[in-house]
Amino acid sequence: MLIVIIVLILAVVILAVLGGTFLLNRSRRSSKSQEHQTVLEKIGTVKAPPPSVEEAIDELHAERGISELDWTPPKLEDRLSKAKGLFGGYLPSVLGRGSILDQSWDDLEEALVLADVGLAATKSILENLKVVVKQEKIKEPKDLIASLKTELVRRLELNDAPIDLKFGQGGPTVWLFVGVNGVGKTTTIGKLAAREVKAGKKVLLAAGDTFRAAASEQLEQWAERSGADITKGSEGADPSSVIFDAIEKAAARNYDLVLADTAGRLHTKANLMEELKKVRRVSAKEPGQLCEVLLVLDATTGQNGLIQASEFKDATDLTGVVLTKLDGTAKGGIAIAISETLGIPIKLIGIGESVADLIAFEPQNFVEAIIS
Ligand code: GDP
Repeated sequence: MLIVIIVLILAVVILAVLGGTFLLNRSRRSSKSQEHQTVLEKIGTVKAPPPSVEEAIDELHAERGISELDWTPPKLEDRLSKAKGLFGGYLPSVLGRGSILDQSWDDLEEALVLADVGLAATKSILENLKVVVKQEKIKEPKDLIASLKTELVRRLELNDAPIDLKFGQGGPTVWLFVGVNGVGKTTTIGKLAAREVKAGKKVLLAAGDTFRAAASEQLEQWAERSGADITKGSEGADPSSVIFDAIEKAAARNYDLVLADTAGRLHTKANLMEELKKVRRVSAKEPGQLCEVLLVLDATTGQNGLIQASEFKDATDLTGVVLTKLDGTAKGGIAIAISETLGIPIKLIGIGESVADLIAFEPQNFVEAIIS
């Protein structure tokens, strides 16, 4: 028995000694390999591991103060208060009746026209709705409102398309922004620049409005705020060549995205349209990949904006609309009028002045936000 105990004690002692030696060697080996790594780094044979994309973006943001920008996502229905109030005012009278009466149709017509949907579109919407109500034997006012929403969403979805985020396919992606002065072009470019830099993209702004010194200064401020770079020309320089220089620089220095601003006003409207045609042609040349030509429209200008829009559409072959200032006194229905009249998608909406106040246009959410 005593011998067994002695043998067991000896076995434990031997195992402890062997384990200790193993751990000591391992830690020596690892500190040796660390020393080896440091020496190699010092003599330049091995480089320190590169930072991850997230670390690099965080560093860039800290360097450029982007984290100080307010990225709180806005709530659509809170921002569309005016548009919502307008429709909302008609809902109680339609819903308060026991059934669908002639007066209910008059209320809907008035609400749509006052909301800037436009006469022709309103007429066509209500005609379709009457057919649906008859076919589906709708009797309840609440079902009438639900069908109206479905009809509006259906129409908006006919032209719905998201922004073209085609990055890394050949040369740099180019998005061109057109629209009259004051509609929010620079602000939209700034918001998008900040968003794409935040997403890890290398962004270059092209100050193509060379006719107003203030325009490129304002764009420069957005470049600083957003962490993008900027290419400017001297005042009065040829806008097409400023934009083309930017695209060539972007290709040479591996930028992902060029956001190009353009003039909103020239001596005559014909001059402006000719200039924009040229800018569009040049922007579509290699090495750039012109993916978006976006018309920026101020939603508060209502039906007047539509006339402008047709002129820009003819000159520049638009791919979409950015509808700004929907948070202000805009009545919301203009989105439906644009979609109906121009047949081009609304891709983004501006619902405030801060950096996060630019969101993708989603027909369902939009209709729910204005009719609820
Ligand atoms: P640009 O002349 O087309 O470049 O227009 P700016 O970008 O200079 O914008 C004109 C004004 O509209 C500025 O005061 C912007 O802050 C404001 N603005 C732009 N977008 C919005 C928006 O979505 N909502 C609100 N409320 N103001 C906006």
